[in-house]
Amino acid sequence: MESLKELIEERLKRQGYKLTKQREAILEVLEDLKEHVTTAQHIYEKVLEKIPGINFSTVYRNLDVFVQEGIVRKTMFGQDASYYELVVNEIHHHHMICKGCGKIRCIHYCPIEDIPREDGFMPVEHRLEIYGFCRECLDCKSY
Ligand SMILES: [Zn+2]
Ligand SMILES: [Zn+2]
Ligand SMILES: [Zn+2]
Repeated sequence: MESLKELIEERLKRQGYKLTKQREAILEVLEDLKEHVTTAQHIYEKVLEKIPGINFSTVYRNLDVFVQEGIVRKTMFGQDASYYELVVNEIHHHHMICKGCGKIRCIHYCPIEDIPREDGFMPVEHRLEIYGFCRECLDCKSY
């Protein structure tokens, strides 16, 4: 079985891109993310630990390449910053977003799977984000 890295490398190669050291570091960071979905700024900080001196625009530009090639998805949650998520080999899922701290969790559940196909409409994609408060924020009783 191919590793995720090989899969992505192949996909990039088909489009004429190389898996550079920077791109590899970004992918590693995205793979290791505990939160799974995060901002460019957070990704940048993690990449900086692997490649000291790398600048933000390099990370941002390469994230855009990944987005363009369908390797990473960029989503705006609320009116905040964009969030990035690795989508290669992804299992369809949704997100819960904390209105207190902005933390995003993945939920592997889809309530829309059995949507009735009326008038021959053929659904191909949908988005669902659930907003609320996480346990930590509720415990703080600041809401
Ligand atoms: Zn929270
Ligand atoms: Zn997710
Ligand atoms: Zn769904």
